[in-house]
Amino acid sequence: MSKTVIIGGGVAGLTSGIYALLSGHEAVVIEAHGTPGGNLTGWDRKGCRIDNCLHWLTGTNPVSDTYGIWKTTGMIDEKGTVATDRLYTYRHGNTELTLWRDIDLLESDLSAAAPGDKKEIGRFIRDIKAMKAMLGIGGESNDRKSTAAEKAKAVPRLLKYYGMKCSDLANRFASPAIRGFICSILTGKFGALALLSVFATFTSGNGDLPHDDSLSVAKKIAERFVLLGGKLVLGAKAAKINVKNGTALSVTLENGRTVAADKIIAACDAGVTFGTLVDEKYMPTALKKRYSDKRLMRFSSCHCAFSCDCRIPFKGDYIIRLPQELKEKYKADHMVLREFKRGRGSEKPVLQAMYFCLEDECRRIITLYGRPREYRNFKHELKADIESAVCAAFPQLAGKLDCIDVWTPATYKRYTGAETGSYMSFAFTSGVIPSAVPSAVKGVKNLYLATQWQTMPGGLPMAANAGVNAIKAIERDEKRENLKSSVISAFDRARYFSYRKSPN
Ligand SMILES: Cc1cc2nc3c(=O)[nH]c(=O)nc-3n(C[C@H](O)[C@H](O)[C@H](O)COP(=O)(O)OP(=O)(O)OC[C@H]3O[C@@H](n4cnc5c(N)ncnc54)[C@H](O)[C@@H]3O)c2cc1C
Repeated sequence: MSKTVIIGGGVAGLTSGIYALLSGHEAVVIEAHGTPGGNLTGWDRKGCRIDNCLHWLTGTNPVSDTYGIWKTTGMIDEKGTVATDRLYTYRHGNTELTLWRDIDLLESDLSAAAPGDKKEIGRFIRDIKAMKAMLGIGGESNDRKSTAAEKAKAVPRLLKYYGMKCSDLANRFASPAIRGFICSILTGKFGALALLSVFATFTSGNGDLPHDDSLSVAKKIAERFVLLGGKLVLGAKAAKINVKNGTALSVTLENGRTVAADKIIAACDAGVTFGTLVDEKYMPTALKKRYSDKRLMRFSSCHCAFSCDCRIPFKGDYIIRLPQELKEKYKADHMVLREFKRGRGSEKPVLQAMYFCLEDECRRIITLYGRPREYRNFKHELKADIESAVCAAFPQLAGKLDCIDVWTPATYKRYTGAETGSYMSFAFTSGVIPSAVPSAVKGVKNLYLATQWQTMPGGLPMAANAGVNAIKAIERDEKRENLKSSVISAFDRARYFSYRKSPN
């Protein structure tokens, strides 16, 4: 039994901790904050819970591979999941288009809104079905794994999307409403394959939700880790991974304490691991290339949460177009409005509004954070602008909203250390096939990675899978070591016997 020390108590860290314990290892998770969960979190303001994370969870269909991980960690508990009927609704003028879970409803909705695009819509729907097969979920009712033949059949249909951005895909349609619908959820710059996979995942029932809110779910996962015998050290920030003669030996905390380890898993932001905890030279080449690849985007977002004195007039995510002056001011085309109903009852309904910021804008806001008065003014204006955009879209909300919090990429940077405040991994545009960065860190024995940054585009399933893969890599390395030492001891024994037999 080896002692595995895991830096970071987010989903990747807690998942690797749970799988380490299930594999018979001792596990210690070191988390900088007083609450476990990392970005899977939430907080309370004025009697209301703000949910930072879960608005969809890939891996809720029991035939998917990730479902088993969610059951093991407690992300999905005995209460099961909430089947959501829609992921998002986009409004263009008076037209509303919705990504329905029911793909036939999606097709008929799009066709009713844009009869002239009927042929193109049919093609789009067939390609979403091909993507479902490619992602592993087959059958008309999405109730079984795809066969190898179904996957092979899907390849030619999907190949044409490889070089396409969402904006290229949108241009196949004449209807401006459909074009906006396609470019609103991920922006037009993302790869069309990413968009197809969102549509395929959701319409195959593989993007539902746990019953509870993000913070409650995070606490449950941490509880499971502790119940299995894991040690969770909260409020302890790792300052350094001590490496001697190419082997990781221990972790020194900011409070000066050193924790010895047989294996160390870095489950915090990859930018924190390389450069802060260990020398940057150990960053895997594949990861280094990604950080400098201009086609890969890192993003974060600005948010405002309101408690409402009335019913929220929409369900799920609702995307509106920002007025021109706000588009220019905030470098964003759309704003996503969310209603959160799950989990601990809030006194009033909570409406959360957010818009995505690309890297340059994130950096600008993070710089403002260093100038407190300017940053305060920025947040003040943001709140007023967001509130006016929400009320312009839903006039019945005017006078009924009370802003309970405003947060930005600078908040995420402060919380996780991610350089641009990003909370997902690299988002990819056209011409990129995402591949995973291995768990073992080359050049440092006994050091492993478990982070969403290993796989694009990140998110909870990528984080959890990274945790599982780190433990698999440790198991593989240990088997190899054991085999090597049993070969060496067999060799030593043979030498010893041949020595004894030798007349001299
Ligand atoms: C607004 C928002 C909405 C989202 N929506 C979704 C969604 O609907 N579906 C989805 O799948 N994903 C969503 N995500 C993304 C998801 O939250 C992340 O992909 C996931 O939580 C990443 O997990 P992680 O464990 O890799 O990293 P993190 O969550 O970043 O966890 C890393 C942990 O390491 C800790 N840490 C850092 N440095 C140190 C140190 N030196 N010492 C000790 N601890 C340290 C941090 O405090 C943190 O707890 C969303 C994220 C946000 C912010």
